[in-house]
This record gives sequence, C-alpha cells and structure tokens, in this order.
Amino acid sequence: MFTRAVRLTGIRGIEVRLDLSLLPFAALVAWFFAARFRGDNDLAISLAMAVVGGLLFFGSILAHELGHALEARHRGLDVERITLFLFGGVTEMHTHSASPRDEFVVAAVGPWISLVCGALFGLIATFAAVVFPAGLAGPVAEVAGLLAWVNVLLAVFNLVPGAPLDGGRVLRAGLWWLLKDRDRALRIAARAGQVLAVAVVLVGLRGIQVAGFDGLLGAVIWVVLGVFLWNAAQAEVRQSDLDRLLDGRRARDLVGVLPDSVALDQPLATVRVSGDTADHHLLPVIDGDEFVGVLPVRDLQGQPQADRADRHVRDLVRDVDHLPRVDLDADVRALIDAFAGKVHAVRLCEGGREVAVVTERQIARALTRLRRSGTPLQATRTAEPST
Ligand SMILES: [Zn+2]
Repeated sequence: MFTRAVRLTGIRGIEVRLDLSLLPFAALVAWFFAARFRGDNDLAISLAMAVVGGLLFFGSILAHELGHALEARHRGLDVERITLFLFGGVTEMHTHSASPRDEFVVAAVGPWISLVCGALFGLIATFAAVVFPAGLAGPVAEVAGLLAWVNVLLAVFNLVPGAPLDGGRVLRAGLWWLLKDRDRALRIAARAGQVLAVAVVLVGLRGIQVAGFDGLLGAVIWVVLGVFLWNAAQAEVRQSDLDRLLDGRRARDLVGVLPDSVALDQPLATVRVSGDTADHHLLPVIDGDEFVGVLPVRDLQGQPQADRADRHVRDLVRDVDHLPRVDLDADVRALIDAFAGKVHAVRLCEGGREVAVVTERQIARALTRLRRSGTPLQATRTAEPST
C-alpha cells in the first residue's frame, strides 16, 4: 500500500514504518502547535513545547495503532506492520478476524487507547502545578492539556461509523453478528464510509464558501481526507471481491499451463517460443532432470538468428537460487504474498522440486483475468468436499 515508506523501528516483532506523506502532516502539526503555544511563552520555549507536543502526538497515534496490532496478534491474526502516514496510522494485517467478536475488539481497542491517552494527559495537565516546579508546570500543563483534547478528538473521529475508520469496523462487526454474513456487512460498512467521505468533502467545500481564501488550507485538508476515505472504502470492497475469487484456489490455478522446459546444452536455434509459451517470460532450464535455472525469453529474442545455431541455452541461463519458493499446491495467497517487497519472480515447486519460475507481470495478468471472469470457486467445484 505504501511504497515510499521507511522502516523506523520494530516493537515486539511488529515493524513500524514512516511513509513520506507524513512529512507535510508533521510540518502542519508542528506549525499548529507552535502557533498555539506562542501566546505568553517566549519563542524558544514555545518551539520546545511544539517539538515535545508533536512527538507525543505521533507517539499517541502509534499507541493507538499498537493497540490494534497487539490485540489482533493476541487473537491469532497475522499482523504485518504499522505505517504512519498522512492521516495518522494504519495497521496492515494479512488475515481476517475469525468472528464478529474478534473484529469488534480489534477495532474498538484503538479508540479506547486514545481515550486512555486523553485521560492520562488530562490528569497530567490538571496536576502539573503540584508535581512540576513553577517554571515548568505552565508549559507542561499547556502541552498535556492540548494532547488530552487531541487524543479525545482522535478517538471520536475514529469512531465515526464508516469503513475504513475504526467506527466502520465496529459497524461491520455489529452487522456481521446481526446478518451472519461478513461480506454483506463489509459492503454496507464501506458504503457508509463513502457517504462519510462525501460529507467530509462537502464540509471542506462549505469551508471555502464561508471563510473564502482564509479557509483554503483547512478546506483542502478536508477534501483530501474525503478523497482518501472514498478510495479506502472502495479498496475494501475490491479486496473483498478478490478474496471471494481466491477462496479455495491453489497456486497452480493461477499459474495455468507451465512452459515446457529446455535443456542446458540445447542449441538456441532449436528453442521454440510460441503458443502457450508466449505468455511466459522465463523458460525453465534442466540439466538431465535437474532444474538449473531459467532462460529469459527476452534474452533469447535478443540473439540474432545467425548466432542461434552456435550458441546454447547454457550461454544465457540465469541462476534463480535467490528467489522465494512456493509449492504449486499451496494456497494461492502464499504465491501472491511471495511477491511482497522487491520480489519480481518466484520459483514454483512440485513435490519439493522446482518446475518453473513465474514473474510478477504474469501473476498480475492472471489476477486481472480472474477478476474479469468473476466466478468464485465454490460455484464451479461443488463436487469437491471443502475442509
Ligand atoms: Zn484505529
């Protein structure tokens, strides 16, 4: 989802990353805090307050996301990472909640943590004069007071019932429990999210109408947030469509017909690229019956016809030992997940032996075809018992 993110740290095995879109947001927060604290404080103190306040603000968002992540892991869900970005944070997970109850708790724990943070900062603001020395008490109370409100706002905003917000997930859990249909619940929550998105955009446009040019920055933020929420809700529906299509499929269902292998000492002139093979970018190369690498079709086509009689497959073969391996009978999601990160090709195995290599482009094309056909597996494979 985030391609411009850098790894920040790991907390109990959960990777925490910063997306570059966070930078303008952080600048805005710093500016807002500095303006807010300027008041009676002198410049150096107000800047220090803005820096500490800003860091604690992002710390609060991280605490909120860690709440989701740790609770999800506690309930057996596969948590991939937390990414802090333009509008806060997002916890990326691979698996779905097994029950409406799990879904509810994982969603609700985030706003709950924000409320707890709000209460803690509120307590600090209230008792700062008692605990801290005179010069420090004022600034501490001011920073803590603002953070208390910000955390409460974070909890309230996140509880608005439209996916992808936490409130949308709480709604989804409730509908799932009520309708006994996770997929329908997801669609309704996503629709609610899109209604919310439109409302957010309208608030932004109204802001321009009311405040004119002065309200422009605020209005732009609302509109961008609205567009983000709309797209995120749309993405949830698309993901659920895809999930339905992938259910029960194995890697071999997506890969389709495997290319014929070529022999290591075969002359290039005798290698044929046609028909089904044309869809493949990498031909498996064998030595005896041992898989030894791949012959990239593009490299083969780059060879002038005149040279192909004298040269052999071994001159162009590429080693693929560094590529991840996926068994053809594994769940199709294992194959898709194998392409995470900077992996562009994956080795396919059958009975523990490599048989071919597929590229990211091939799999992307197969997924598009599957999406277009739009038939879930259950409808076509009724004879097979499901496990
Ligand atoms: Zn949340």
